[in-house]
Amino acid sequence: MSRTTPPESSRDLDRLAVEAYRDVARLGHDDPGVPPIEVRYFAYAGLRSTVRLRDGRIYVRLSDLFEAAPDDIIGALVRILLAKLLRRRVRAEWNATYRLFAIRDDVVSASEAARRSRGRKRLADPAGRVFDLDEMFDRINAEFFAGAVERPRLGWTLRDAWRTHGHYDPAHGSVAISRSLDTPETPAYVVEFVLYHEMLHVAMPAEVRNGRHMHHTAKFRRAEAQHPRMTDAVAWLETFSRKNGTRRRRRRLTKRG
Ligand SMILES: [Zn+2]
Repeated sequence: MSRTTPPESSRDLDRLAVEAYRDVARLGHDDPGVPPIEVRYFAYAGLRSTVRLRDGRIYVRLSDLFEAAPDDIIGALVRILLAKLLRRRVRAEWNATYRLFAIRDDVVSASEAARRSRGRKRLADPAGRVFDLDEMFDRINAEFFAGAVERPRLGWTLRDAWRTHGHYDPAHGSVAISRSLDTPETPAYVVEFVLYHEMLHVAMPAEVRNGRHMHHTAKFRRAEAQHPRMTDAVAWLETFSRKNGTRRRRRRLTKRG
C-alpha cells in the first residue's frame, strides 16, 4: 500500500472531490465550507476504497484499480464515500454508476487477482482451542455432501467477530470461522452449522442477477434448511450476537467492490 497517484492527475482528482463534496453536502457554488480533501490511489487488495476525517481534513483512498476508470465512475465512488462520512443518503444513481464499473469482467478479474496477490488472508490454525475445523469439515462433507466439497483453506479468524460468524472468500478459496465461537460454551452443533453454511457457499457459487451477486438465493436457503439443527443454531447465534452486541467494532467507512 504505497503507490500514490502521479502529480499530474491529482489536481483533477482534487477538483472532482470538491465537486463531489458540494453535491453530497448540497452546497451552492459560492458556498465556502468545503474542507481540504486529499484523494490518492492506493494498491489496496481488491476494490477497497476508504475515507476518513482527521484534523479537519478529508482523506480519500481509492483502490488503484480505479486509476483507469472514467471520471463519472470515480465521481460516483467519491460521492458514495463522502455520503458515508457525512451520514448522507447514498443516491441510487451513484451506486448504479459505480456498479457499471465494478461488475465489468475485466475489473472483476483484476480485482480478484489483486486480492489474491496483495490480500493477506491470515487465519489461525484450524485446530482451535475447543473445535477442530478440519475434522469437522470431513464429517460434514461426508454426511451432507457425499464428500464432494473441495477442501478450502480453513481456519479461525485472528480476532473475535461477534456478528459475522463465518466467511467464505472465493478469491482466496478460504473459509474463516469466528474465533469467538471456539469456546466450551458454544454447542458443537452451532459451529457445525456455521461451517455447513460456508461449505454451501463453496458448493454453490453466487448467481449474478442484474449485476448483483446473489449469495443467499432461495435454492441456497432450501439447501441450508437441510441441516437438522438449523433452527436451534440460528437461535443460539442470535442470542450470542445480541449479548455481545455492545462490543461493536468501530464503524468502518469503507466501500468494497
Ligand atoms: Zn452466507
